Amino acid sequence: MLTVEQLSARYGRSVSALRDVSLTVPEGSVVAVLGSNGAGKSTLLRAISGTLGLHGGSITAGQIAWKGQRLDRLKPASIVRHRVLQVPEGRQIFGRMSVEENLRAGGLVAPASARAEAMERVHTLFPILKERAGQPAGLLSGGEQQMLAIGRALMSAPEILLLDEPSLGLAPQMVARIGSIVRDINATGTAVLLVEQNATMALRVADLAVVLEVGELALQGDAAELAASDEVQRLYLGGH
Ligand code: ATP
Repeated sequence: MLTVEQLSARYGRSVSALRDVSLTVPEGSVVAVLGSNGAGKSTLLRAISGTLGLHGGSITAGQIAWKGQRLDRLKPASIVRHRVLQVPEGRQIFGRMSVEENLRAGGLVAPASARAEAMERVHTLFPILKERAGQPAGLLSGGEQQMLAIGRALMSAPEILLLDEPSLGLAPQMVARIGSIVRDINATGTAVLLVEQNATMALRVADLAVVLEVGELALQGDAAELAASDEVQRLYLGGH
């Protein structure tokens, strides 16, 4: 289980990005994080993956633990070794490197014996990445690049995947495909913390959901129940 307890974070001295946020991701579950622009969703993922400092931010209070181990004072590389992996917003693939090289780069932290198995798992989930193995990653479509970014994280055999807006900028059909990929990944036992602006997709694939509003936890609960609630309907699902 991932536990985030009374977490507060800021950028520099003046920008408070998270205040007193608590949530849990039970092992093997999908938890969606919803909220408008600037609500603190990416900040939450960066705090968990240890990358907040790379963006000029820091945790100012609270703690984060995965399976009982504190993560919040560890460096990003150690957090990856705890098999907690983030796929950052914007994918950040290496465009000039081949698809296969991108995947291999993701597997460097895994023991050599586990890499072949991880590659096979990625190729089974994303046959297109096998077909395009030798092509420069920059030639892939936006959706395929998102698959590559997810595949690269899977090369480290994560027990929990932190996905930051995987559907951003993708056509509706590809958004649905990303949703089913999240389910497929989860079906193999990997927990997922899914940050999304596309609340419809996120609530469809998640077991639980939380809503952040300007850095604070506004709502949390069962994803299906939240999807049916008036507030979520009105604010995030375009209902009235
Ligand atoms: P978005 O969907 O726009 O990415 P978000 O919910 O992920 O939104 P965050 O990116 O976590 O929100 O931003 C939370 C707050 O922190 C916002 O006020 C934002 O302007 C600020 N912020 C985010 N990144 C930085 C940064 N690197 N330096 C300074 N302030 C930042």
